[in-house]
Amino acid sequence: MVERQLRGRGITDERVLAAMGSVPRERFVPPDLVARAYDDDALPIEDGQSISQPYIVAWMTELLDVRPGGRVLEIGTGTGYQAAVLAAMGASVRSIERLPALAATARERLAALGVDQAVEVVVADGSLGDPATAPHARVIVTAGAPSLPGPLLDQLDEGGRLVIPIGTVGQQQLVLVTRGGGRLTERPVGGCSFVPLIGAAGFR
Ligand code: SAH
Repeated sequence: MVERQLRGRGITDERVLAAMGSVPRERFVPPDLVARAYDDDALPIEDGQSISQPYIVAWMTELLDVRPGGRVLEIGTGTGYQAAVLAAMGASVRSIERLPALAATARERLAALGVDQAVEVVVADGSLGDPATAPHARVIVTAGAPSLPGPLLDQLDEGGRLVIPIGTVGQQQLVLVTRGGGRLTERPVGGCSFVPLIGAAGFR
């Protein structure tokens, strides 16, 4: 997976490649899909949601430019796989999930791997960000939003980075938003397809 799907397709950050190689993806997919855990695909998970394709996880992680010891806010815990990859990068992760059953399963999976110290899973509407712990230096949204959610922009720290898919329910552009010198800069970096971000500042 690391050599063919990631390095072979342009992921160059060795820390990202090492993190992707160290997290057992088979521990995050539903039992009947374990044989497909390392396929070059997103896979369906519980509650009609999905675990992202490995390449997308690596690409978003690279764009986020995670620092060891840094804090990351993730919106859309899903299985907890992306959070585990961020933890493997040395980050301390607060991950927000709107569906309580998915949050509970993700907590179990993360605890079984011993990464529950580095990842806190919270049930809430992440389209509103996380005002209690703002400002945020790094924010990763792993569900597709109709437009840039105002609360996430407001909560982005100076020097901060936000990686978020923006578009329709089926198809989005991955956008890297940075705040520097008091200004927000938006850069579309490529196409992707995520399940919708559902919430007050997402799809209704
Ligand atoms: N990062 C996940 C995949 C995310 S799938 C992984 O590694 O497995 C997208 C997730 O976003 C789904 O679990 C969905 O329930 C969640 N989601 C959608 N809208 C949300 C919102 N407003 N706040 C928090 N989570 C949301």
